[in-house]
Amino acid sequence: MNASIFNIQRYSLHDGGGIRSIVFFKGCPFRCPWCCNPESLSVHPQLMFKKSLCIQCSLANGVCTSAVEDCPTKAKSMIGEHKTIDEIMDVLIRDKVFYETSNGGITLSGGEVLLQQVAALELLSACKKQNLHTAIESTLALDIEQIHAWAKLCDRFLIDLKIMNPQKAKEVLGIDIHKVKENIKQLIHLNAEIIIRIPIVPTYTDSSENITGIISFMHEVGLKEVHLLPYHNLGESKYKSLNLSYSLYDAKPINDKIVEDIRQTFIDANINACIYGN
Ligand code: SF4
Ligand code: SF4
Repeated sequence: MNASIFNIQRYSLHDGGGIRSIVFFKGCPFRCPWCCNPESLSVHPQLMFKKSLCIQCSLANGVCTSAVEDCPTKAKSMIGEHKTIDEIMDVLIRDKVFYETSNGGITLSGGEVLLQQVAALELLSACKKQNLHTAIESTLALDIEQIHAWAKLCDRFLIDLKIMNPQKAKEVLGIDIHKVKENIKQLIHLNAEIIIRIPIVPTYTDSSENITGIISFMHEVGLKEVHLLPYHNLGESKYKSLNLSYSLYDAKPINDKIVEDIRQTFIDANINACIYGN
């Protein structure tokens, strides 16, 4: 079994507890305007070109004639590769001692990991055979196949809630919020541990109406913990490198006071809330 992934990030501290390795799956059917991983959107490997690194060593008529692997500065690179579960496990297992001493483990992220459910479940199963703690980051906005297997193999679900208004969620993100809610309820029914994550993005997710909608859903289903992820524009240069357009080019990072006020709103509603600066 192969998985299409674009990175394995070791020693991460913000994606599921303790020291973790994050496996980034490639491919996402949604289109959040603020997405900071545009290289995750296509499920296929793709060429990235960083103009600032190009020393113009192999140009003919303004076009680079060099193969990607021969580029001396890595100005040209391929993003994404197909790896077997064994190949991924070979990397993940190297840091087992760090996971064990920090209550950490493995997190599957993306992209949208539910696009590759067979491979993801196989990887989670391989992690469990090594007694590793497992988590996923997901929108939960797709049908979940083998939901019992997910609930059994994944110790912690980090679920994004972004725009709660169904029409806006569909128009802006392509996400069916009813499906997200239904999947969350099903996982809760199976005793899954769920933490909600909210990207705080100016004008898109930071309105009091949207935050109130998230709080009332969390109260309805009994969820008690939220992570707030303030918008940043660190992914902007990647859009240029991939020749993609980025609709938030002029957006500024969100004001700290607004994020703190949102955190306090959750606290006042008896929901644990912390801010992550990633
Ligand atoms: S090989 Fe790399 S550095 Fe040289 S021209 Fe091509 S992209 Fe630029
Ligand atoms: S769901 Fe995640 S990966 Fe997909 S577009 Fe939105 S932010 Fe990007």
